[in-house]
Amino acid sequence: MSTLTFTDADLAAISARFEPAPAADIVAWAVETFGDGLCLAASMADAVLIDVATKVDPSIEVVFLDTQYHFPETLATARRVEQRYRLKLRVLTPDREPDDLWRTDTDACCQARKVDPLSRHMAERAAWLTGLRRAESDSRRDAAIVQRDGRGLVKVNPLATWTDEQVDTYIREHDVPVNPLLFDGYPSIGCWPCTQRVEPGEDARAGRWAGSDKTECGLHL
Ligand code: SF4
Repeated sequence: MSTLTFTDADLAAISARFEPAPAADIVAWAVETFGDGLCLAASMADAVLIDVATKVDPSIEVVFLDTQYHFPETLATARRVEQRYRLKLRVLTPDREPDDLWRTDTDACCQARKVDPLSRHMAERAAWLTGLRRAESDSRRDAAIVQRDGRGLVKVNPLATWTDEQVDTYIREHDVPVNPLLFDGYPSIGCWPCTQRVEPGEDARAGRWAGSDKTECGLHL
């Protein structure tokens, strides 16, 4: 089904209907609705969404943005998750070599290393699944479960309503692989030049682009 089938009002109504729904039901709707036009974008902080989604559709396409600045722990987690779930993992890379752009213009760097590679891939897709949650930060507290993204595609956030405690419980009960940096002071994990440890009680995303007013890389804007 084309994303053009849905008006913004349709998406808002679907999103509202899914507020109390289990994440697996939301994933199942996305799989049935978009078929091969759907992919899952994984950050490799943890594999909760991948665990939920592959139980619905074991062959779901999973994409990972290799910005060329990931921590070694993140790359190792990606390999571990790929093997554990026998994923059809697509690694998306930027069309530029590593450089110093992050030192002078983080917006342009994120655009080149995250937004543009995903946009190129999504040109052939209608919808994507993300692990975005309202509890992660103030900037995400109003996230819808189903919404239109900046490209006009449908973005589905099956875990939007999950608390940190729900995530921890799911990880424990389902033995879900997690990035070891989560236990080393990094509750939110991005590229190493732009991710710092946070103090206990701080916003989970406070270590991302710390010292600047940037809070999002652009994927979710
Ligand atoms: Fe570049 Fe930092 Fe954005 Fe990674 S998070 S793409 S290093 S600006």
